[in-house]
Amino acid sequence: MYTFPTKYDVIVIGGGHAGCEAALATARLGCSTLLLSINLDTIAQMSCNPAIGGLAKGHLVREIDALGGEMARIIDRTAIHFRMLNTSKGPAVWAPRAQADKKAYQFAYKQVIEQQSNLDVKQELVTGIATSESSVEGVITANGITYRSRSVILCSGTFLKGLIHIGDTSYESGRAGEFPSVKLSESLEEIGFKLGRLKTGTPPRINAKSIDLSRIAEVQHGDRQPFCFSYSNDPATFSDRLEQIPCYITFSTEKTAEIIRANIDRSPLYSGKIKGTGPRYCPSIEDKIVRFPHRKRHQIFLEPEGLNTEEVYVNGCSTSLPYDVQIEVLHSIEGLENAQMMRPGYAVEYDFAPPDQIDFSLETRLVENLFFAGQINGTSGYEEAGAQGLIAGINCARKLSGDKPVVLERSDAYIGVLIDDLVLKGTREPYRMFTSRAEHRLLLRQDNADLRLMETGHRAGLISDEKFQLLRAKKEQIAAGIKLLNETYTSNNTTLAGLLRRPEMTFQKLCEEYPEKTDRPGPEVERQVELELKYEGYIRRQRENVEKSRRMEHLLIPESIDFAKVPGLRNEAIEKLTAIKPKSLGQASRISGISPADISVLMVQISRNKRGRSNKAGPGRQQHLP
Ligand code: FAD
Repeated sequence: MYTFPTKYDVIVIGGGHAGCEAALATARLGCSTLLLSINLDTIAQMSCNPAIGGLAKGHLVREIDALGGEMARIIDRTAIHFRMLNTSKGPAVWAPRAQADKKAYQFAYKQVIEQQSNLDVKQELVTGIATSESSVEGVITANGITYRSRSVILCSGTFLKGLIHIGDTSYESGRAGEFPSVKLSESLEEIGFKLGRLKTGTPPRINAKSIDLSRIAEVQHGDRQPFCFSYSNDPATFSDRLEQIPCYITFSTEKTAEIIRANIDRSPLYSGKIKGTGPRYCPSIEDKIVRFPHRKRHQIFLEPEGLNTEEVYVNGCSTSLPYDVQIEVLHSIEGLENAQMMRPGYAVEYDFAPPDQIDFSLETRLVENLFFAGQINGTSGYEEAGAQGLIAGINCARKLSGDKPVVLERSDAYIGVLIDDLVLKGTREPYRMFTSRAEHRLLLRQDNADLRLMETGHRAGLISDEKFQLLRAKKEQIAAGIKLLNETYTSNNTTLAGLLRRPEMTFQKLCEEYPEKTDRPGPEVERQVELELKYEGYIRRQRENVEKSRRMEHLLIPESIDFAKVPGLRNEAIEKLTAIKPKSLGQASRISGISPADISVLMVQISRNKRGRSNKAGPGRQQHLP
């Protein structure tokens, strides 16, 4: 046994998407940080789809950037195919997505990590977390080394007791070709954490040279004018882009369905071998065939994994069928009749810690200064992981310096929705973000994440003064633009704002028609002015709803409350409220299993307490709570 001489402020376990954001955040906030990961060649590895963003996930990436995280800047530099999704629908659900050069993404991220001051990086397999009196002390590794620290952020992804399945074959692994993390799982259980079991899956990769492009239904090019994810990068002048290449769309056939039906009993999903719960929203190809028997074909996207590799990701064909069946399935897909499978698809089962064990800061309730972020909290996806890593990093640094945590509300950010859902509702399947999870979608657009969050990022210390000044100037320009259009009349006595609200009208057309009355403040500001005016009524209504729900958020539940002594609360409610400790009635109302009647009981109790206090409280008098 050897004890490493340096005692760090923070140790981050795991150099995945959560761990990288967490380590950068703590280091940038001045904490001496050590990042430990099983294999340094897989830092920021994309375990599955080599793409960042997509529906609701693109919003998360923009929010990470607005708060001072790294993901957006890396994908801007390493994307090979950009698309803004959903542009035929309303602005609330537009979603940026980019296909990455997988290796370039990883190397770019690794370099940022390695060059960051205050951050040491070491290849180590952590086998245990050292604690004393409910506080964290450091970690122990498979090499027999003890690293001491004031806090630990655990971001171990799918590695805890990872078990891979390909048909009848199963073996322990974190993801294909990598060690699992078995002892760490045991250490968590010894400390007293509850662990559950989840499952996720990935499709086969094929060689591009073996695809028959003449039989492929559609070539899909990226957007002609690619956008940037990061607010630091101006799409008009951004010069770091890689070469842009197309993706392809093809379809499964009736033969695909026949092959799968004939072999379904060999799928570990259907033979009962897999015990963990998988994501319903992201079904495997065998799931799709079984659940939608009437559908004659399913769409498959062929997505290149990079500029310097021939590997192609077969998106839509996630599977854990046996190796030989996977080859047959691939050969039944249009254009893939002679496809050469380079890596098989597989499913992986892993331990996670049900997230009712963390607080809104992402610190665990059980062990002080121990934070959990990413897939360990039951989520799935790089963006969900990155968002949690960033928040855990910020809050860990704040905890060490005695500051209050940053807790985003549901009306602030998708990140607020994500953490609120995890802590209050928990999850029984891998949780991914959807736009439908956010009740204030029109306020939480991908285009206004800077306006919503950059100030918080600045206060937290991750957004520079210079960027913050630019944000302020932008906000002033937007306000001035709206005022000008509201106060400028045309010869028909209509305001320019009124004209802009017409469906066919855009800010650009308006400026062309009335050049003497309008200024061109720049595309970002114009877009905000246009959206604020066009959707003014809806936006106002959503803001009113936020205000209404804030009232419930402001009805605080006293920290010292003993729920077991509140008359009329059901046992299930007492159990859940005691475990989760909601801070407000708003939070209590979102806990699954808490009924409106429970909330009424709590509300009565709180106002009874308040009345009691105002009747009895004299100077220095103690407040009596149940
Ligand atoms: P990871 O990116 O998994 O990183 C974990 C890191 O921790 C790794 O670097 C690992 O080496 C390190 N580590 C683990 N244990 C230890 C230890 N004891 N000591 C030191 N280091 C350790 N997401 C989707 O959105 N859609 C999908 O379809 C999808 N499919 C997936 C399929 C597969 C097969 C896998 C493996 C993942 C899939 N994902 C999918 C999930 C996505 O990869 C993760 O959600 C995301 O990578 C989670 O980020 P993370 O940082 O929590 O963990």
